[in-house]
Amino acid sequence: ATPTSIMVGTGRAAEMGVLFRKGDALQTLADVDVIALDKTGTVTMGKPALTELVLAKGFARSDVLPLIAALEAKSEHPVAAAIVAAHGDASLPEVWAFDSVTGHGVVGNVAGRSVVIGNGRLMARQGIEVGSLAKAETDLARMGHTALFAAVDGVPAAVIGVSDPIKPTSHAAIAALKARGIKVAMITGDKAETAKAIAGSLGITDVIAEVLPDGKVAALSDLRRDGGKVAFVGDGINDAPVLAFADVGIAIGTGTDVAIESADVVLMSGDLGGVVNAVEVSRRTLRNIR
Ligand code: ADP
Ligand code: MG
Repeated sequence: ATPTSIMVGTGRAAEMGVLFRKGDALQTLADVDVIALDKTGTVTMGKPALTELVLAKGFARSDVLPLIAALEAKSEHPVAAAIVAAHGDASLPEVWAFDSVTGHGVVGNVAGRSVVIGNGRLMARQGIEVGSLAKAETDLARMGHTALFAAVDGVPAAVIGVSDPIKPTSHAAIAALKARGIKVAMITGDKAETAKAIAGSLGITDVIAEVLPDGKVAALSDLRRDGGKVAFVGDGINDAPVLAFADVGIAIGTGTDVAIESADVVLMSGDLGGVVNAVEVSRRTLRNIR
């Protein structure tokens, strides 16, 4: 492409709220075969709400909710905000110890009681047998919820179902990308059942789930092996390395600063419609000059 056509394309994209930070990206995007999407905050709103609290025998909501909300108040994960919001404004018990285990959950001590909240992987790591709560977790995950276990003093106390609505524009955008011959995939740290339920409702069959934050680059490189050039769309701190690694890294403009700084393209609109516009402008720019 000539410098002039790149400049015109970049300008046209900017008018649609798609910021190409490098002319290279405008050229590369025209040839991308696979676009991988982060789930939370990219495909979904990233504003989950607590929708289910399934209690184990002997535990009451009024005991468990303050303990888990107090511990999660120390975490920055979106699911933590959902749990804190469910507790409301009432004062929280004091947190004596807090530790965050990336890709797993949180561990701590709340007013003298040991509290562990996270996925099955975390419970296994902590030597906590989830027993009869396992079924509730699987059922919630199959419905597309993020399902977490909470244990108090080493005993499984509850399964928490957190649901994060899909952005209203995600459906049409994914369909439009597929119609343009692009393979759409999803990469997430969430459980396979949850990821598949959400991806399935969007017509995405390529799902890489239960990926640890430092595993997203490897996941994308597996997709690249299948064919040519890959783009990644994400919003989170965890997404920064994979945004930098992708042939084209696309950040959601409402996402974290680190994600935006690591990307080649920034979508001001905050939704996946911007990816379709970016591909359109890129292909049109290259078609004109080829
Ligand atoms: P994602 O952005 O896809 O949720 P993460 O690596 O941030 O990926 O988290 C992976 C999983 O770890 C989550 O789906 C959840 O099961 C668990 N997890 C992470 N942070 C927390 C937390 N603060 N409380 C409970 N579970 C958590
Ligand atoms: Mg995200």
